[in-house]
Amino acid sequence: MKEYSEGYIHSIETMGLVDGPNIRVVIFMQGCPLRCLFCHNPDTWNKLSKTKVTSKEVVDVVRKYRSYIEEGGGVTFSGGEPLYQSEFLLDMLRLSKKAGIHTCIDTAGVGYDTKYLDDILKYTDLVLLDIKAIDEESYKKITGKSMKMFNQFIEKLKEHKNKIWIRQVIVPGINDNEEYILKLKKYLKQFDNIEKIELLPYHTMGVDKYKKLRIKYRLDGVPIMDVDKCKKLENMLNYIEKNS
Ligand code: SF4
Repeated sequence: MKEYSEGYIHSIETMGLVDGPNIRVVIFMQGCPLRCLFCHNPDTWNKLSKTKVTSKEVVDVVRKYRSYIEEGGGVTFSGGEPLYQSEFLLDMLRLSKKAGIHTCIDTAGVGYDTKYLDDILKYTDLVLLDIKAIDEESYKKITGKSMKMFNQFIEKLKEHKNKIWIRQVIVPGINDNEEYILKLKKYLKQFDNIEKIELLPYHTMGVDKYKKLRIKYRLDGVPIMDVDKCKKLENMLNYIEKNS
């Protein structure tokens, strides 16, 4: 039996500033079972492509940046979908915690192997939870998959009481309206431990990757999301959260 799990990563960003608190080493993992309309990383979809590494090799890289990340930063496992390589992710989380490093997963809550999920959440300090949609019909339209796995994930998340940052991409014509924000607010009431809510404006920076990979881009013609309008919706949501 191998001492450390092996898995596939896409890349490593050593000075991440937007994927969790303070400065983070961000591990972009390979593989995702969803096909979100607005995904800007289609090059991470395939689990088996790119570099095969051991959990120890990855955490050794993280440790090298210790002096940057120890002031309230840490490591963030992102993707793709980090849960899609559950055993490998768990091993990296364990090794990171053993080294005293703050751990975060940026996840859509899907693609996991159930037998590892409790331990994954046990070794995760913060979950960046990507909300795709809040009803089955829209979820299917946006991701191409049923919401069942996500729903099971959030039940586990509530049970483990991990700290949560909510994230949602706002796309013109899909969810950029106050009616949706009110529904989202109601939906988020089920969580007791949300620390932050971020609405992310839809952009088209990944479109060239689709061309290179010869994958049809399904939001062709949809304009990028107005940053100010997105901020207003985010403020509205945060205001309601604080005052209700
Ligand atoms: S979950 Fe993330 S990586 Fe997967 S398709 Fe959606 S946006 Fe892309």
